Amino acid sequence: MRSLDGAKDQQGTVMATHTTKMLIIGSGPAGLSAAIYGARAGMQPIVVQGLQPGGQLTITTDVENYPGFRDVIQGPWLMQEMQAQAEHVGTRMLWDTIVSVDMSGSPFRAIGDGGDIYEGDTLVIATGAQAKWLGASGEQEFSGKGVSACATCDGFFYRGKKVVVIGGGNTAVEEALYLTNHSQDVTLIHRRDSLRAEKILQDRLFAHPNIKVLWNKAVERFVGEGGLTGVELKDTVTGETMVEPADGAFVAIGHAPATELFRGKLELDSSGYIIVEPGTPKTAIPGVFACGDVMDHTYRQAVTAAGTGCMAALDAERYLATKEFAARG
Ligand SMILES: Cc1cc2nc3c(=O)[nH]c(=O)nc-3n(C[C@H](O)[C@H](O)[C@H](O)COP(=O)(O)OP(=O)(O)OC[C@H]3O[C@@H](n4cnc5c(N)ncnc54)[C@H](O)[C@@H]3O)c2cc1C
Repeated sequence: MRSLDGAKDQQGTVMATHTTKMLIIGSGPAGLSAAIYGARAGMQPIVVQGLQPGGQLTITTDVENYPGFRDVIQGPWLMQEMQAQAEHVGTRMLWDTIVSVDMSGSPFRAIGDGGDIYEGDTLVIATGAQAKWLGASGEQEFSGKGVSACATCDGFFYRGKKVVVIGGGNTAVEEALYLTNHSQDVTLIHRRDSLRAEKILQDRLFAHPNIKVLWNKAVERFVGEGGLTGVELKDTVTGETMVEPADGAFVAIGHAPATELFRGKLELDSSGYIIVEPGTPKTAIPGVFACGDVMDHTYRQAVTAAGTGCMAALDAERYLATKEFAARG
């Protein structure tokens, strides 16, 4: 029996039901690219936007690596344009957050936090993966003005400058190594006396002449005026504090994929990312696709999210066409 039947709330109010051939959860580059392709294939997609309409690029400023723009563009502007393009070709954007999903049969059904029901003959999951932050003082204040969670995205802006990376896992070590392409003064800050990163990465890190490591140091606050000038650190053993000068600080303590809704319903890897058939956005459930950062812990870029969003829409269209052809006998 389906678990989401019933279109009334506890007061007996009838909730709206929205139906579509292609239901997309998430409005970042992955969801909106899926929408553009889905709409142009005549699938009249619905995008449920979630709490962050436009996704993660809306919280950054300069974007210099999205193809098609010679000059630096602004993340929020890019996402506004992407949404406008999706709407222009026939996407319905709905402002709601999905609180539960039923993928036990077609149509796939999702419930919004106000009780509205969304039904899709296909379902595209594009809920992203949020960078984890330290929660230290000044972190949000200097976000985009010295503090970043993505070296691939922002490292270029710190050419020839002094940068620090905070973390001790694979991501932190990879970010530190990547930053040596731009900076000759990279410091890795870790609150313990050893790294969790794979040995091969650690070997490369320790061998690099432009990287030093500060052990047993926890970030107390990010300091500066207008822009970042350093990080205040507290020694986790002695309790002593110091300020490490830095023009850029990269917080690299991992990402949290937004997959709680799908736990127990779709296969997730040990970090919570949705597992798809390699090289495709197909999940184990026919008709359900995952794209963007929610299924990609390796690249996590706007352009790769858009690329897999496109793939999800193309595969969704093929899935439906095959199903409809078979139903005709
Ligand atoms: C500070 C920062 C700077 C960056 N700079 C760059 C850059 O310069 N270049 C670059 O290529 N990449 C950059 N990135 C990375 C890029 O933003 C991501 O790779 C990209 O946004 C991933 O797209 P996505 O669509 O998969 O997910 P996201 O952009 O994370 O979008 C996820 C969407 O899912 C929605 N959602 C989540 N849960 C629900 C739910 N329950 N119901 C409904 N909707 C839901 C959210 O509201 C959001 O709209 C940056 C990231 C950050 C954090």
